[in-house]
Amino acid sequence: MDHPDMLATRPLPAIEPHTARFWQATRQRQLLLPRCTACRELYFPPEASCLHCGAPEPEWVPASGRATLYTWTLCQPPLLPYFAEHAPWPVVAVELEEGVRMVAQIVDLPPEEYEIGMPLVADFQDLDDERTLVVFRRPG
Ligand SMILES: [Zn+2]
Repeated sequence: MDHPDMLATRPLPAIEPHTARFWQATRQRQLLLPRCTACRELYFPPEASCLHCGAPEPEWVPASGRATLYTWTLCQPPLLPYFAEHAPWPVVAVELEEGVRMVAQIVDLPPEEYEIGMPLVADFQDLDDERTLVVFRRPG
C-alpha cells in the first residue's frame, strides 16, 4: 500500500449498445430500467433483448431508487487483482421497489451492519468520465 503505482486498477464495466442508455442516465444521477415494449415487463440488467419474451429495443423508465437488501456475500480471493487488494469485497443484491433485482454495493456501511430486508436508496459513484456506478446506501 506504500507504492500507489503498484496497485491494480479497477476493472471497468463495458459500455455496449444495449447498455449505453443506462450509463448515460447514471452519469446524470438517474437510475433507468429497461421495460419491454412488447410484454411490458421490467428487467435488469439491460440486455439486447427482453429477458421475458425476447423482444428488442426496450423503453427506459425511471426507478424510484428505493430498494431493500435481498442478500449479500463477502468475496474472498482468488479474485481479480484490484478486488483481491480490497478483499473481502462485499457484493449485495438489492430488490428495487419496482420488483427487479440489481447486483451492487452498499456504501458507507460496514457489512457487519447489513440486514436482509433493510431499506436502501440508490446513489451514484463515478468510476471514470463515462461510467457511474449505481450503489446503495441507507436512506436519509
Ligand atoms: Zn418482453
